[in-house]
Amino acid sequence: VSNSSDASAKALLRQDYPLSDRLDLWQQSESGEWLQVSTGDQTVFSSRDIQHRDFVFRVEVPARNSRQVYLRFSSSGPINIGLSISDEATLISRIGREQLGYGIYFGGFLVLLFYNLFIFIAVRDRAFFHYLLYLASYGTYFAVHNGLTFQYFWPDSPAWGNKSLVVLLALTLVWGLRFSRSILNSDRTCPRLDKLAATHQWLSVAGLVGAIVLPYSQIILPLAILSALAPPILIWMGAVSFFAGHPAARYFLVAWSMLLVGVSAYMLKTFGLLPHNFITHNGFQIGSLIEMVLLSLALASRVSELQRHSFTDGLTGIFNRRSFDEHLRDAFAHSVRYRQPLSLMLIDVDHFKAYNDTHGHQFGDDALRAIAQHLQKTLRRSDRRCRYGGEEFVVLMPGTTEDEARILGERQREQIAALELAQGSLTISVGVATLADASFSTEAEVLGAADEALYAAKRTGRDRVLRHTDRHVVASANLATGT
Ligand code: GH3
Ligand code: MG
Ligand code: MG
Repeated sequence: VSNSSDASAKALLRQDYPLSDRLDLWQQSESGEWLQVSTGDQTVFSSRDIQHRDFVFRVEVPARNSRQVYLRFSSSGPINIGLSISDEATLISRIGREQLGYGIYFGGFLVLLFYNLFIFIAVRDRAFFHYLLYLASYGTYFAVHNGLTFQYFWPDSPAWGNKSLVVLLALTLVWGLRFSRSILNSDRTCPRLDKLAATHQWLSVAGLVGAIVLPYSQIILPLAILSALAPPILIWMGAVSFFAGHPAARYFLVAWSMLLVGVSAYMLKTFGLLPHNFITHNGFQIGSLIEMVLLSLALASRVSELQRHSFTDGLTGIFNRRSFDEHLRDAFAHSVRYRQPLSLMLIDVDHFKAYNDTHGHQFGDDALRAIAQHLQKTLRRSDRRCRYGGEEFVVLMPGTTEDEARILGERQREQIAALELAQGSLTISVGVATLADASFSTEAEVLGAADEALYAAKRTGRDRVLRHTDRHVVASANLATGT
């Protein structure tokens, strides 16, 4: 190191790979004797002259003079030599920027962690649990890699500090595989690939045990092989699920591609094919954070899938009662607010018990499906049809007047009676109620009114549509004539 200025220079020499086991630096003092500084990640953190995650040495060179400096590296892991020399002011401002970058990076991990933790508490879906463990292992792995965990989490445990890298690598593999299997439901969508991934996962568990009990030099090769084989298996599994139409698989595949792009950028930089800049140098880490964000989106798409399931009737595939109850509340409020009519049509199949008894439950189910499909096909998109329970359906028709609703009901009655079922035919009774000019004050009242109209339709002979406003007139007329 030579100093061409007229003042004596105090420089800082930085080695930017924090996982070196042992580093020794020799430099000559003013009087010519050799001074040695020994450091490395095998001794407690506080033994460092300058408390930084990387190794920083002071180098003094008198004015217009030069000094020989020797460094000796020794490690059971890889030996990365990344040296830079600068004055204090430059290094301080560079480290300030770096720390900000790490704060943002690991802050991203923490946001994902808490966000998904809260969703996990709410939905109790195990895929979220696996994601949290994957995320925590992965994030901590990078913090170990950057020397941050040794500085802040376990500065007095160099032995564990050296093991932590391989232990977290194995944990990341185990939970990454477990998470991928649960988000893709691979045990159902691709059982054979799932077996392969499960085997890989258990081998990684063995790798984890090895990482704890064996020395670094013996476990690193098996772990490196396991890590290299995991992405092909996962991407293959993602592709199979994608072509099987799994909704989360798309995000899953994009997530893995982002990681591969990041790793490739890093590799290309290493071989001099891409410029060395912040993005290429940190490609692996940046790619992994983007991967984690996308995997979190994959989880979100899973939640909406679960939600869709909870609003769907299992037998007919149309909306269920829970969905209806929620929707009715909103539709009612909307109608009151914008003074629009809201009609409700309650449909009950006539003598369905007899149909079941005659033809069997299976054909009863088929008939219910056929009726649901007919409702689904024929009404307007804005009308919400739901299976209300048993052999009852309900249709919510915003912006529809009572007269229109009756006509629509009549049409349904005729068409359903004409449906060609596998066994015989069925008729329906329909009760119609309409909210108009604040005729009802709660949504439960509208529903009750439709139910009354339906009851009147049943009582006066079935296979008919009755409006709530007509129920007394028609009912008493029919009773008087004895029909
Ligand atoms: P009404 O004309 O008065 O409505 O007579 P009903 O026989 O249709 O009415 P009831 O309420 O006495 O019987 C309804 C029947 O619907 C009884 C039940 O076995 C049948 N049912 C309810 N849910 C299902 C289902 O999911 N599948 C089948 N196959 N039958 C069902
Ligand atoms: Mg009934
Ligand atoms: Mg019935």
